[in-house]
Amino acid sequence: MNISPHFTWAEVTASRVAAARTINNALPDYLRPEAEAQAALMERIRAALGAPIIVSSWFRCGALNWAVRRPNAGPGIDNSGDHPKAAATDFTAPGFGAPLGICRLLAPRVDELGIGQLIYEGTWVHVSKNVPFKDINRVITLLPGGAGYAPGIVEV
Ligand SMILES: [Zn+2]
Repeated sequence: MNISPHFTWAEVTASRVAAARTINNALPDYLRPEAEAQAALMERIRAALGAPIIVSSWFRCGALNWAVRRPNAGPGIDNSGDHPKAAATDFTAPGFGAPLGICRLLAPRVDELGIGQLIYEGTWVHVSKNVPFKDINRVITLLPGGAGYAPGIVEV
């Protein structure tokens, strides 16, 4: 079933990590409007890129978010960030090009497209409809080796 013209509800909850660890990543009903608003953002991004989007992570329940962020720890709960709110999507768009090029296209257009936060994460792009508390965190690059984030989109 589709959440929007080019995205499905299955894409909102699909997760390889959840499947591997038998975590139930079902979306709670109260987050459906959040997921729908995020899907509307993803439609605008798809149109801007002119290419299909491959979703790698969208909604993450607290147990899944913990497992993704701390793959070597035991079970736990982490409700921080925008994925547990269904308000963030990690994606690639191979038909358009590499994640760096996607970020360079989107960064100057965050206001126009309604992107709250854009993160270049190297092998994928993270976008959230939610604007971070600090403006400097709106467009950032995840640095390799646990070095944190750099402002803007920089080649890593
Ligand atoms: Zn993400």
